[in-house]
Amino acid sequence: MNLPLINRVLEHKNRIAIASNEQTYTYEDLLHASSQIATNLLQDATDLQEQRVAFLIPSGFEYIATLWGIWRAGAIAVPLCVSHPRPELEYVIVNSAASIIVAHPNFEALLRPIARSHNLRFILTSETLPTQINPLPTVDLSRRALILYTSGTTGKPKGAVTTHRNIQAQVTSLIDAWEWTASDRILHVLPLHHIHGIVNVLLCALWAGAECEMLEKFDAETVWHRIDRGNFTLFMAVPTIYVKLIAAWETATEELQKSRSEGCAKMRLMVSGSAALPVKVLENWQKISGHFLLERYGMTEIGMALSNPLHGQRKAGSVGKPLPGVEVQLVDENGELVAAGTPGEIQVKSPGVFLEYWQNPAATAKTFQNGWFCTGDFAVFENDNYRILGRISVDIIKTGGYKVSALEIEEVLRSHPEIQECAVVGVEDVEWGERVCAALVLRSESSLTLESFRSWAKKQLAVYKVPTRILTVEELPRNTMGKVTKPEVTKLFY
Ligand code: AMP
Repeated sequence: MNLPLINRVLEHKNRIAIASNEQTYTYEDLLHASSQIATNLLQDATDLQEQRVAFLIPSGFEYIATLWGIWRAGAIAVPLCVSHPRPELEYVIVNSAASIIVAHPNFEALLRPIARSHNLRFILTSETLPTQINPLPTVDLSRRALILYTSGTTGKPKGAVTTHRNIQAQVTSLIDAWEWTASDRILHVLPLHHIHGIVNVLLCALWAGAECEMLEKFDAETVWHRIDRGNFTLFMAVPTIYVKLIAAWETATEELQKSRSEGCAKMRLMVSGSAALPVKVLENWQKISGHFLLERYGMTEIGMALSNPLHGQRKAGSVGKPLPGVEVQLVDENGELVAAGTPGEIQVKSPGVFLEYWQNPAATAKTFQNGWFCTGDFAVFENDNYRILGRISVDIIKTGGYKVSALEIEEVLRSHPEIQECAVVGVEDVEWGERVCAALVLRSESSLTLESFRSWAKKQLAVYKVPTRILTVEELPRNTMGKVTKPEVTKLFY
């Protein structure tokens, strides 16, 4: 056993690692279960030598025991998404060329036929595990560990491959920056096929020897109930989750509101990331929880890169400065560094940056420039902080010769009393190149017209930034992480 993440367990074997489904599991339980799973995966082999093992298990102890089991058998873990339909699951399984599928019985009907049609070994988590544990292989940090599928704006998702060394760097950077310790307790409410839930929450907790309570799925009332009762020190979520928690808090009785706020007050840190945090959400959350959310920026391919400080001044609408071990620069279209105050593409260099897109050397080569990973995100460095302007491909709109940031316009539109949510996109246009368009979710009492909207917006924004078309929708299209899917929004305007 030589992966530091797993070796460290020996320091806190008897501490509780995971709480799930009304049960608790110690680090020793995790060590034992993962060695049984590794033995079972290995069968007669001594090392799975980076074979891919796809697995679909709800959030809980079995998930992490399986992930560690896969790693301890020398294989690459390919987590699948619990809410994906068969074609998407099959795409990931086939693209990663997985040789084994591990499934919770809830997913047997969905996955067994895929295993059968591709002739793959199929293991159910309910099967009896071997009691005799075989010697497990030595796994070097340079080996590939994980493939996370990440959607681009065009084409099929690509598998981002990280090594054990990459993951360790991603984890230790956050342990350092956010001062994780073994006394931390975190409530896990995020999906487990995505970096946020896997690295920032689960693996950081385990590295620290902390306790992680895993909820099978997000439900605002359940989360409040746990926050209310539990003694958590940390909470991490995406902006949509904070929006849902705020809505649930607002409709609760006064007594419940008080105890929920007290549950938040017991924590030492609450973090938001994976999408832009609207300033209004940050302010509302501060009112009910007393916490000024720490916003950070990162992506599947690089881990976390920028963060507001744990101690010291946090800035609403900003993502702070580079995390420990991370170098960040902003460049223009020619790859030249831009001056402070000038927007540019974020490029990142760090030991946490991924190895490659799975079996896609062309795509991998395209995203690196002189050793820097090109994120495709636009940002500006101002007032000693980075501010994200959005994805170059979808959030940077070129209209009438101007380059405008959709995120900046959205932030302003959300300050309109009748607008609950919004998404701004650029829609192809002969006259403007791209036309600024806004999909709006209005408050129920709203009677907003394009005319009144535009005359209000012109007082807040330069005229070329003011949307020329608006569309009212019931809700915005979002992915499983709660992020608004801009290509879907754009389609609404065609
Ligand atoms: P993912 O790989 O799914 O985590 O998505 C990463 C992308 O989410 C980044 O490339 C950004 O476009 C976006 N993102 C992550 N954090 C933030 C943030 N704090 N503000 C704005 N966008 C963010």
